[in-house]
Amino acid sequence: MSDYDAIVVGAGIAGLGVAAQLQQAGRKTLLLEAYSRPGGRMQSYELPGGYRVDTGLHLIEMGDKGYCHELGTRVGVEFEWAAFSQTLDLYQDGEWRDMQSFIRLTDEEKARFIEVMKNVASMEEPDFKVWDSRSFAEWLDEAGMSGSLREVWENMSMIMTTIPDAREQSAGECLYIAREALRKGRAVLIAAYPKGGMGGIIGPLADAFQKMGGRLELGKTVDQVVFEGRKAVGVKVAREGESPIAREWRVTSTELVTAPLVVLALPIWHLERILDFDRHNSPLPSWWLKRIEDIRGERTGLLGYIIATRRPLYERTVFMSALRSPRTGLPFQAFAPTAFDPGVAPPGRYLLVTDNVAEPEEVENKFNRSRLLEAHWEDVKEMYRFEDGEVEFAIPYYTAGCDGLARKPGLTGDFKPDVKAPGVEGLYFAGDTYLGRGLAVEGAARSAILCAERILG
Ligand SMILES: Cc1cc2nc3c(=O)[nH]c(=O)nc-3n(C[C@H](O)[C@H](O)[C@H](O)COP(=O)(O)OP(=O)(O)OC[C@H]3O[C@@H](n4cnc5c(N)ncnc54)[C@H](O)[C@@H]3O)c2cc1C
Repeated sequence: MSDYDAIVVGAGIAGLGVAAQLQQAGRKTLLLEAYSRPGGRMQSYELPGGYRVDTGLHLIEMGDKGYCHELGTRVGVEFEWAAFSQTLDLYQDGEWRDMQSFIRLTDEEKARFIEVMKNVASMEEPDFKVWDSRSFAEWLDEAGMSGSLREVWENMSMIMTTIPDAREQSAGECLYIAREALRKGRAVLIAAYPKGGMGGIIGPLADAFQKMGGRLELGKTVDQVVFEGRKAVGVKVAREGESPIAREWRVTSTELVTAPLVVLALPIWHLERILDFDRHNSPLPSWWLKRIEDIRGERTGLLGYIIATRRPLYERTVFMSALRSPRTGLPFQAFAPTAFDPGVAPPGRYLLVTDNVAEPEEVENKFNRSRLLEAHWEDVKEMYRFEDGEVEFAIPYYTAGCDGLARKPGLTGDFKPDVKAPGVEGLYFAGDTYLGRGLAVEGAARSAILCAERILG
């Protein structure tokens, strides 16, 4: 007799989503999270003075028309969306410009553009599959995109993938994201900000899971998955910190919790911490282990600031972007959370979140990172014309591995690891590094839906 029907490891949006769906289907589910709060890479912190800031720049693609919203609906939660960003402002020659003034098309170019958009809107899964192994630059060439139109597309595909160079982006993924937005939102890229920020998604999802009778344990690090032959039977949870002697001797004491179903809702680059990758001892086939080892370094990075000011630096509900920021030379993205939801800052105070998209290695090296952050700060001051004295606080942040498995050619669509472990009974995966299309949170939510569907049939 097992302790639970299912154990889910990791309470990011994917883990919360799978756990809630399993619990709703009557499976007694335990959700284990290493950190002291649920949400993973996506959560909000309350700061003194009445601010609510998210972990970095976060808007959710498609809002109430996307898979994140559908995930909530499936478990009886209706997320509230503060506002949509339907368009993009671009930085050029020292000023912010809206898309209309950025792109000046002749009638002939306009007609060609509309034709291309109609083609994208009519694309289906087999079309994306063809483009999954080709770059977005190739697609732009074939579609005849040039000049300012190409630059706008390159800004959007950079935002879609967090990859600076269109030659490195998967065309399949970019076209899928554009198709969804065109069909459901009549734009190439749309995104929304949840009321109250990312906590407006994570809080209700965690509450729903627990109200249904699910058990969420925080501060519990899973040390390893336990197998009997080729069958997952539970996990060992670390009891680190319990005994100073065990720490001293570097022995990890663990507690066994059993279930016939284990879902690992953590990124593939953390799998080796809880799964034995030794070919002779692992119940997983060696081709799968090799594939994970080959692709787990495929991450994306960014760094930037969460800035609070005494005067609004930007009040339009738009996403802002530049292919090169003046000093760092890196792609730039930003938006003003208070323009979408004034409730995330106290009255008379405003938030702006900025970032530069960079290679993970560029942000992981602390010397390089501090050089980039300094240059980024000077760029931001120039772009939004403010003085240090107008700033309440500026929190620097960085991440290497923000958007799941890098969406490069050969790493999207069916190239992503499946949600079911091959050749092993009772072991599944969910999250933005596994099967599931769409921009980061959307991909994670989609994979949580796919995972629960595969388990529940
Ligand atoms: C700064 C930043 C900005 C971003 N901006 C956007 C954006 O604008 N739009 C967008 O769509 N996406 C954005 N993303 C990406 C988005 O946050 C992620 O795609 C999404 O949150 C991934 O969810 P997940 O559930 O797959 O994984 P995670 O959120 O990483 O969840 C995994 C969880 O597993 C836990 N865990 C790991 N190991 C163990 C263990 N051994 N035992 C127990 N628990 C464990 C972790 O603590 C974590 O909580 C951004 C990410 C960052 C970091």
